[in-house]
Amino acid sequence: MLSKEKIEYFKKKLKEHKKETEGQLSEVARPNLQAPGEWETTVPDMNVRVSDKNELADTFEEQETREALEENLEKHLMSIEKALKRVDEGTFGICSICNKEISEERLEAYPMAEYCIKDARNKPQT
Ligand SMILES: [Zn+2]
Repeated sequence: MLSKEKIEYFKKKLKEHKKETEGQLSEVARPNLQAPGEWETTVPDMNVRVSDKNELADTFEEQETREALEENLEKHLMSIEKALKRVDEGTFGICSICNKEISEERLEAYPMAEYCIKDARNKPQT
């Protein structure tokens, strides 16, 4: 069983992760005011002359990259939030499939872990 101190330690780590991820997210997206917790991609500065087709294509490409990045960051942020919720509920560090403890080494490497190594292997990564 994880000690209170250990859980506090992981909680602090998760909060740092969260801040970092939110910082990265705010560079490509802004919080969606209609749907709390969700983000929408911001459009890069459009100083593009429409007559220049190449530049316009670059802008579209950049927009796609931003959206992919934003999606990944948002997923990451959600897994952090979920882990923080488990801290509050007292289920942090417990595999949500087999209810066994997740090893400390695994949590150290990936504090957002929701499953033990065995179940994570059986489950496709999302
Ligand atoms: Zn398990």
